[in-house]
Amino acid sequence: MSKRKAETVEIPVDPSDVLEFTNLGAGNEVGRSCHIIQFKGKTVMLDAGVHPAYTGLAALPFYDEFDLSTVDVLLISHFHLDHAASLPYVMQKTNFRGRVFMTHPTKAIYKWLLSDFVRVSNVGPDDQLYEEKDLLASYEKIETIDYHSTVIVDGIKITPYHAGHVLGAAMFFIEIAGVKILFTGDYSREEDRHLNVAEVPPEKPDIMITESTYGTAAHQPREEKENRLTHLIHSTLRRGGRALLPVFALGRAQELLLILEEYWTNHPELHSVPIYYASSLARKCMAVYQTYINMMNDNIRRKFREGQEKGEGRNPFIFKHIQSLRSLERFEDVGPCVMLASPGMLQNGVSRELLERWCPDPRNSLLVTGYSVEGTMAKHILNEPPEIQSLSGQALPRRMQVEELSFAAHVDGRQNQEFIHAIGARHIILVHGEQNNMGRLKSNLMSHYKGNDQVKIYNPRNCEPLQLPFRSDKIAKTIGSLATKPPANGVILSGVLVQKDFGMSVMAAEDLREFSGLVTSIVVEKQRVRFGAGVSLLVFHLEQMFGAVRKELDEEKRPMFKVMDTVTIRCVEEYELEIEWVGNVMNDSIADAVLAILLGVESSPASVKLTNQSCSHSHYPSHANVTPALRLERVLMFLEAQFGEWLTSTDVGCNIVVDDHKASVNLETLEVECGFEPLRSRIKAVLERAVGTVAPFARFEEESDRDDEEVKEEDEDTR
Ligand SMILES: [Zn+2]
Ligand SMILES: [Zn+2]
Repeated sequence: MSKRKAETVEIPVDPSDVLEFTNLGAGNEVGRSCHIIQFKGKTVMLDAGVHPAYTGLAALPFYDEFDLSTVDVLLISHFHLDHAASLPYVMQKTNFRGRVFMTHPTKAIYKWLLSDFVRVSNVGPDDQLYEEKDLLASYEKIETIDYHSTVIVDGIKITPYHAGHVLGAAMFFIEIAGVKILFTGDYSREEDRHLNVAEVPPEKPDIMITESTYGTAAHQPREEKENRLTHLIHSTLRRGGRALLPVFALGRAQELLLILEEYWTNHPELHSVPIYYASSLARKCMAVYQTYINMMNDNIRRKFREGQEKGEGRNPFIFKHIQSLRSLERFEDVGPCVMLASPGMLQNGVSRELLERWCPDPRNSLLVTGYSVEGTMAKHILNEPPEIQSLSGQALPRRMQVEELSFAAHVDGRQNQEFIHAIGARHIILVHGEQNNMGRLKSNLMSHYKGNDQVKIYNPRNCEPLQLPFRSDKIAKTIGSLATKPPANGVILSGVLVQKDFGMSVMAAEDLREFSGLVTSIVVEKQRVRFGAGVSLLVFHLEQMFGAVRKELDEEKRPMFKVMDTVTIRCVEEYELEIEWVGNVMNDSIADAVLAILLGVESSPASVKLTNQSCSHSHYPSHANVTPALRLERVLMFLEAQFGEWLTSTDVGCNIVVDDHKASVNLETLEVECGFEPLRSRIKAVLERAVGTVAPFARFEEESDRDDEEVKEEDEDTR
């Protein structure tokens, strides 16, 4: 059996069929997430974060590189600062005018969270991205969207699915003009105590934009990881130390609280040791967690139900062993304790203050449970440096135990790849990962899809657009009066093509107002040209090009000519013609051809030979006094213009030889002798036209007068 090799033909791609994807942030990095999708004139923006390692304007995505006024819709995947914290800036400080969507819990937490961000951002007033009032103004304009329900904005379909990352985190399934895109945001596939895991949407997308935070690294199994956490904490407490867990105020912290609460419940000997949660923000947001129990997983809903049934009325997020700490002033630092404190990357605030206070004591321990971004203290201290720099510039000895546990609600390498295979998109775009991690995941995926040239994997850098062609058939529906006739083979429908969003319809021009609210108008175009040659020449050349030219009279009884029932030519001034037509593509091209002829008449060889008389005072050259001999000479010129080199003059006329066929023309009798009929009739036709054109123009003028009288008579008849 012979194998046929598939041939690929390069068809030029229509620019309107290209989807463009651009990272304004989170391209080969973690932080300042912001991505732009442009397709078919629509623009979708995904996330508007800040970079945790920078402050002020430097922390923003590259907004200056893109015209934010073109964004139709902005989707925020979850409330984390690297995904949402520059949203008030975008909405209040730029020319952005699009609509913004996020889930209900994300919006509820957004307000508290960013208010906290404004307060604790360690920057001067000049470097502050926005103020509390900007945050509130942006909050008013944010629209909410429910999991599994579809919102359509300007033809763009948007459906959020559970992402399993933090409360309210969404993956967005987006459809623009038939092209389907899945944006995972940050996501997790691991069962935990309160969240639903990331879902595989029912439809297969063409493009998947996925996080790659952990690259190919593997998480410890959940049980092992939890045992290690509780073991590390328990042994710290046994040696009289303090355990510091820097956490982002919301998200994983709530999962850690659930784990600790459960462990304390099972270990009465620990009841004397306090667990503190130092975050006024988390305290405020606990109400949100208590409210959105219905958006969490079965485990937490069951606990809630059981509590209700026992009449305890207990909410799983109301803890027995955990104390919330409003500020460090109220904290009595007297002995072993467990402290959860934000921010998670030890940049400033309570967690940093406690780190600086506790790091010299070897009994204490620091447990880093989240993902640490390059350039932050959390990342730095994981290398166990002998000393660290305090915020005030002091060098502090670092003797405390430092441990890393991956409780971050991100997929690890294996989970991510399994999910990518399950989604089955043809284009996989990696974002939200440090360059090396992302690179390793990319090469793993490439070797998995080796030999399958259908699947492409990309890891674009910030501000480097990725172009993906999506060719599609263009189909238009007929509506209105055009749709009343059943379609028939070979019948070509004509009407007006109207496009709204991505749907096209064809309708009769009369239906435009009813179906599209549009109106039509007619554009009449006029042009004047200088014309020195005579009318007979004009008509001759026009007839050569267009066949018969209709002669009529205008309202002022002036003769005018109609070419192809489209272009009207009038003689308005001496040596000046006016050309008029209804503007459209077809008519414009006829008018162009007429103009070209008018401008070329005087220089055409036939014309030069025919006459060198210019317009008489009546605008038309008079042929009335042309002698028969002169007339014959002019007819001969016509023939010469037509047959050129094939023509030789004879005494009575001429001979024309074309491809061995010979014809003799007698100009006195106007007879044509030729054995080859096609040539004979061709010459005969040219001869007749020439005779007609060279005939005195007076005849036409007489005819015009006569037409004039007839019109008058008709007028009288109708009276
Ligand atoms: Zn996140
Ligand atoms: Zn993130």
